Amino acid sequence: MKRVVNFYPGPAALPLAVLEKAQSELIDYAGSGMSVMELSHRSPEFEAILDRAENGLRRLMNIPADYAVIFVGGGASLQFSMVPMNIGVAGKSPDLVQTGTWSKKAFTEFKKVGDARVAGTGEAGKFMEIPKGADLQFSPDASFAYVCSNNTIEGTQWRSYPNTGAVPLVADMTSDIMSQPVDVSKFGLIFAGAQKNLGPAGATVVIVRKDLAERASDKIATMLQYRTHIKERSLYNTPPSFPMYMIALVVEWMEKEGGVSAIHKRNEQKAKLLYDIIDASGGYYLSPVDKADRSLMNVVFRIKNDEALEKKFTAEAANADLIGLEGHRSVGGMRASIYNLQTVDGVSRLAQFMTDFRRKNG
Ligand SMILES: *Cc1c(COP(=O)(O)O)cnc(C)c1O
Repeated sequence: MKRVVNFYPGPAALPLAVLEKAQSELIDYAGSGMSVMELSHRSPEFEAILDRAENGLRRLMNIPADYAVIFVGGGASLQFSMVPMNIGVAGKSPDLVQTGTWSKKAFTEFKKVGDARVAGTGEAGKFMEIPKGADLQFSPDASFAYVCSNNTIEGTQWRSYPNTGAVPLVADMTSDIMSQPVDVSKFGLIFAGAQKNLGPAGATVVIVRKDLAERASDKIATMLQYRTHIKERSLYNTPPSFPMYMIALVVEWMEKEGGVSAIHKRNEQKAKLLYDIIDASGGYYLSPVDKADRSLMNVVFRIKNDEALEKKFTAEAANADLIGLEGHRSVGGMRASIYNLQTVDGVSRLAQFMTDFRRKNG
């Protein structure tokens, strides 16, 4: 058996212990004589899996009782439509901060549902910085305010969130959920596609304050109302059952590892390994993003803006079993995705590779 160090941005690396546990239960889950993939979503065995996934998230993130936790399909991208459909209010625009590709995509979808206002944008600086201070202008009349907490493609991250007062704050936390402690009560809604930090693709976790889910018109398609999934506890239709099982295993693994604060420390350690090498390379490796806004999850870097050298880097890295380091096609260069479930050991191997590569190709 071969395992590589997986730096893909999503779907992304899962802990070996979680994969082995799933493997050991794959054919006969808990004496049911069936795989989780074959279990009825209405069976007591699956209800127990749903409890484990939901309660694990509730414990790890300290989610208050007046918030619902639901699992839906359609990827994180469907939330770009479900959020304004459900939380929007007629005649009141939502405010959105543009910090990169994913928040711009959200903005496009908001505009299809109703109006939307840009409360700040980093576009002039190619999104290498998160707008701050006077560059953020939230309206007290907005139906909600929206941010993307970690910009997967550009490599920036909000480290502290704006205070939007009585206006509910909504965050796309797909690429950094549970990477650092957050106070859920400061948010109206948080969503995250599972495939970066929580498990396989197919399930999206939505954490929503229950009163906000009641804003939605019942004219919205039943499947697109949060209310439906809250009322039926994610069992209105057949949910993404196997991904939900994997999320249960991942959250239980994270708890065993010490929970969100321990994972956060480890994330800082992993990111430091790479940024230190970049900063000490005398301009050989370049981090294009503003230092204060550097992501702990997606480390974007270049080699002297030399594409030929960058191609050599990713090819030789792949030969050394360091896989998926190509930057997004819109940004170029390299990107090491080092989410919650990436190991320190894997990142150390990349750090060593970077040091060696510079020595040989300096
Ligand atoms: C990957 C990603 C998405 C899109 O997720 P899908 O599940 O593919 O729709 C949305 N937002 C962010 C921040 C992402 O990183």
